[in-house]
Amino acid sequence: MKTIYLDNNATTMVAPEVVEAMQPFFGEYYGNPSSIHKFGGSVHKHLDTAREQVASLCNASPSEIFFTSCGSESDNQALKGFVRSRKSRARIITSTVEHPAVLNTCRALREDGVAVSEIPVNEYGMPDMDAFYQADIDSDTLVSFMWANNETGVMFPIREISEYVKSKGGMFHTDAVQAAGKIPLDVQEVPVDILAISGHKLHAPKGVGIIYIRDGISLEPLITGGHQESGMRAGTENVPYIIGLGKACELAKNSLDRDAGHERMLRDKLEKALLKKCPGAKLNGDPGKRLPNTTNISFEFIEGEAVLLLLDEHGISASSGSACTTGSLEPSHVMRAMGIPYTFAHSSIRFSLSRYTTEQEIDTVIEVMPPIVKRLRGLSPFVKE
Ligand code: PLP
Repeated sequence: MKTIYLDNNATTMVAPEVVEAMQPFFGEYYGNPSSIHKFGGSVHKHLDTAREQVASLCNASPSEIFFTSCGSESDNQALKGFVRSRKSRARIITSTVEHPAVLNTCRALREDGVAVSEIPVNEYGMPDMDAFYQADIDSDTLVSFMWANNETGVMFPIREISEYVKSKGGMFHTDAVQAAGKIPLDVQEVPVDILAISGHKLHAPKGVGIIYIRDGISLEPLITGGHQESGMRAGTENVPYIIGLGKACELAKNSLDRDAGHERMLRDKLEKALLKKCPGAKLNGDPGKRLPNTTNISFEFIEGEAVLLLLDEHGISASSGSACTTGSLEPSHVMRAMGIPYTFAHSSIRFSLSRYTTEQEIDTVIEVMPPIVKRLRGLSPFVKE
């Protein structure tokens, strides 16, 4: 059975062009880019190219891009690096629907004595801007809001938030792990200071990421040791994966509009059909301000996990909540923060598409899903037929 993979917010297939670009760096060019000799040194210029490719995706300067091991490391670097640079003066403002890479890191910092406030969201997953504008922001404040949510695809008003933070003299970090490669990111247009990207969400391998740090912003490094990455991130560079990430960013930039149009068309077709054909189905998140590839739908009175298992029998991979919360029977923290009633929150399914998703695959899901919902509804103790 062929897999129909609709879990691209969890991870993506490595693009064939990326695999090809990485290949020589496992065999032919295995030198250490920090070496004095030509064999190692020649690898360095390829790292420079990758840095330029990543910088170009977000309209940054290559000197502002630092390679890391993943999105979680980049988020940790932003938050902990800020706290270390401000010592006991540091304060953090974040939202209640951040990925655990941000939320759990903030909560751990709170345990260490850092003042952390969490701004709530409304039923559509958008931040409560009145609460945000009431928060105290000064030069010792880091505001960390995600660009787009991994579970619902909801996009925060990042330009408005970052402009406000800058007008108050604060520092602004955004977790752009889900936004990168799906919507335009332009750090000249939107005044973010720090931004995190993860390779495996945009068709590069798992285990590589970047942190963008605007020139002039000072953060203490999280990983200390050698002088790699201009002293910002010690450790011999994961050269093949960095090359792959550079290529993936180049591909994403060149096909951003085409991919977004393709994904939006298929996502809308899927969403419309499921909402029409499955009684008790409800869309989660702001219908307009969403990533083009994501839909999150609840099917009242049935368990999301049961739907996933039955979809899996048809070779369809989707997700309930985020991949990181799968296995837990509690509704995700995002659904709870949005105030979604339990009977809906418990049954939320996320379908996330990619440039490789085909119309035929979407048609199969549209065919398979309604009978699954009907069957599980029939088993629900809450529904009287
Ligand atoms: N931030 C968001 C919004 C994510 O969706 C994820 C992964 O799911 C991460 C951070 C963590 O990225 P990584 O898996 O590269 O550590």
